Amino acid sequence: MSSAGTVDVVVVGGGQAGLAAGYHLRRAGLSFVILDAQKTPGGAWQHTWDSLCLFSPAAYSSLPGRLMPPQQGEAYPDAAHVVDYLTEYEQRYELPVHRPVRVEAVHRDGPFLRVETDTATWRARAVISATGTWSRPFIPAVAGRTEFTGTQLHTVEYQCPTDFAGQKVIVVGGGNSGAQIAADLAHDADLTWVTLREPRYLADDIDGRALFDAATARRRALDEGRTDTGGVASLGDIVAVPPVRAARDAGLLKAQPMFTRLTQTGVQWADGTRTDADAVIWCTGFRPALSHLAPLGLRGPRGHLPTTGTQALGEPRLHLLGYGDWTGPASATLIGVGRPAREAARQIAGLLGAV
Ligand code: FAD
Repeated sequence: MSSAGTVDVVVVGGGQAGLAAGYHLRRAGLSFVILDAQKTPGGAWQHTWDSLCLFSPAAYSSLPGRLMPPQQGEAYPDAAHVVDYLTEYEQRYELPVHRPVRVEAVHRDGPFLRVETDTATWRARAVISATGTWSRPFIPAVAGRTEFTGTQLHTVEYQCPTDFAGQKVIVVGGGNSGAQIAADLAHDADLTWVTLREPRYLADDIDGRALFDAATARRRALDEGRTDTGGVASLGDIVAVPPVRAARDAGLLKAQPMFTRLTQTGVQWADGTRTDADAVIWCTGFRPALSHLAPLGLRGPRGHLPTTGTQALGEPRLHLLGYGDWTGPASATLIGVGRPAREAARQIAGLLGAV
């Protein structure tokens, strides 16, 4: 494999987290490249279902340095608008994004980390992993999953309600994806919505702004040694974005408790009764995409990797960015990733003696 060169930092992943890292690495005066497996800019936002809208207004969905412009006629921008914003962001800051380049493995190599990709090998003095979760959809182990003869798909494969017009569809999941996809299907399909517990909606006048504020308040409380405020989870699971609110208020979003198993033709409930289905859509979340870090031998519980802030325990040259609250409060959101990105760049600059 040919050598591509040596840099201070390789950023793995060119979604919003990778771009935020690039912004702060540039400000810290470090040399870096961003390696992204996608052909085009936008990270996971290129692959969402058609009707997905942000749960915050544009001004609350911005990366460091550049406010997201509002989308004409929309209070909450759609995914295409985010892709446009991220495309413009990396051009504006001339971020050195190489694509499509997939990082396959990161190895220790004396004073360097060796970053092996599908095209060449880089040497870096530090690595920021920002690969997101979208490429690792999670489906729970439910009895009978292989027996069901209908269609099964995950959130990542769902596109639009017309694909399911007139079909009996079971949507599994009580988070934002589950609620939004259930609402999307409510008029076109014969919908059954299944959640592990009673859906917990945030108050109607609360959107992603409040989630960010709650995450920030939690971070402050923990930083100052005060009692844990509970952060985002204390507010509820589902942002009542307009389509979800409309479907809920029309009585179309009645959630059932989880079924006990899948059958050949549908699902079986706790009382033994059955419901037929043409399709089951699993809106059951994601896991962090970390397989490229396996050679470092750092894996912790639940597929996470032990960190303090963004820095990996056991490998101070490695930072993890954007995966969820475990790598910084609200770090898996557009507005929330800026702060941990700044902190990661600052720590790397300190480690490399660049400050
Ligand atoms: P990604 O966008 O997934 O980017 C990671 C990039 O890394 C991708 O381009 C991927 O191809 C690449 N990659 C992966 N593995 C490799 C590898 N080995 N080598 C090279 N490249 C690799 N956030 C908000 O702020 N507001 C919202 O309203 C909002 N709504 C959401 C709704 C849904 C349904 C979901 C799922 C998320 C939502 N989020 C929202 C959360 C969040 O903004 C996204 O999950 C975001 O895409 C995460 O950004 P990221 O950069 O960490 O990961």
